[in-house]
Amino acid sequence: MRIPEFLPNLIQKTGNIVLATHVNPDGDALGSLLGFGNILESMGKRVFRYLEQPITRLYQFLPDSRLVQTDMYVLDSFIRPAGHDVLCVALDCGDRLRLGKNGSDLLKIKPFVVIDHHQGNNGFGNLSWIEPQRSSTGEMIFDLAVALRRKISTSAAICLFSAIVTDTGSFQYESTSSHTFDVARQLVDLGVRPNQVARSLYDNYTPGRLQLMQMVLASLELRDDHRIAIMRVTRDMFARTGCTYEDTENFINLPRTVATVEVAVFLKEIGDETVSVSMRAKDTCNVAQVAALFGGGGHRNAAGFRMIATTLDEVRSRLLPVLQRELSR
Ligand code: 5GP
Ligand code: MN
Repeated sequence: MRIPEFLPNLIQKTGNIVLATHVNPDGDALGSLLGFGNILESMGKRVFRYLEQPITRLYQFLPDSRLVQTDMYVLDSFIRPAGHDVLCVALDCGDRLRLGKNGSDLLKIKPFVVIDHHQGNNGFGNLSWIEPQRSSTGEMIFDLAVALRRKISTSAAICLFSAIVTDTGSFQYESTSSHTFDVARQLVDLGVRPNQVARSLYDNYTPGRLQLMQMVLASLELRDDHRIAIMRVTRDMFARTGCTYEDTENFINLPRTVATVEVAVFLKEIGDETVSVSMRAKDTCNVAQVAALFGGGGHRNAAGFRMIATTLDEVRSRLLPVLQRELSR
């Protein structure tokens, strides 16, 4: 636990706090943002929970999910009366571009603090607390609340627990430490019911999503002695099942379950010529490094990137030799 000294002091003395996270926010992004928002409000602060898009169906069970704001004009009217008594905190965001289309406006808010656990986060903004060995941003927010001597409400605890569960793959990934379990235990003591969180996160899908999963699994290729798994989702599959991009969450974990698979790749056709790539690795391959070669980022075991003006086949044929080289090292 190495919370920089400036951080609790800065939060204590600031009355108006804007919270932001990365685009296409996952469970850690949303759980940290909503959990931290709840904690800050319990300290009597005004909080603006900014997201580029409203929260998707899957995460609407998170307490306070309806308090999210997407309108930059409303942000303006939040900031103006605050004068200099304002602060922006970006959570779980490893790269300034991942703040989304309004990132440069958010970065005008000073001071701008980054709290994150991504390897390769270069600490954009003017102050930061970055710990790449942490399981999740949610775990860091818990420690920050302790440093601030705040009692965490059950609502905030549910948000932070969901953040930790999703970013550790339910306590499976390498980043899961004894401290992670210690935080999870304390969150359960604060009223979290793990079975209910699991049900909301993992048993909450539509029939269309199962059909989509069938189509995606049908595209699975196992290569290089079954060490590399590649699958894809196309816009046509979305149209045929009535699903959207958010429905593909967690699909990448399916090929990873094959014993021989060392790296799983999921190619997603998300726009006319835009492809988003998710990668998951076991211990032999560092996918953060691979993603960085394509302008993306992430963690050793979970990383991704996005390419425009391209096709699924083109991305596949550029990525495959890089993965083969990485696995043969
Ligand atoms: P996912 O595959 O779940 O979308 O992302 C896995 C990890 O890779 C996350 O930690 C996420 O922050 C990172 N990641 C995914 N896509 C991108 C991207 O386009 N750029 C960067 N910098 N990181 C990404
Ligand atoms: Mn995270």
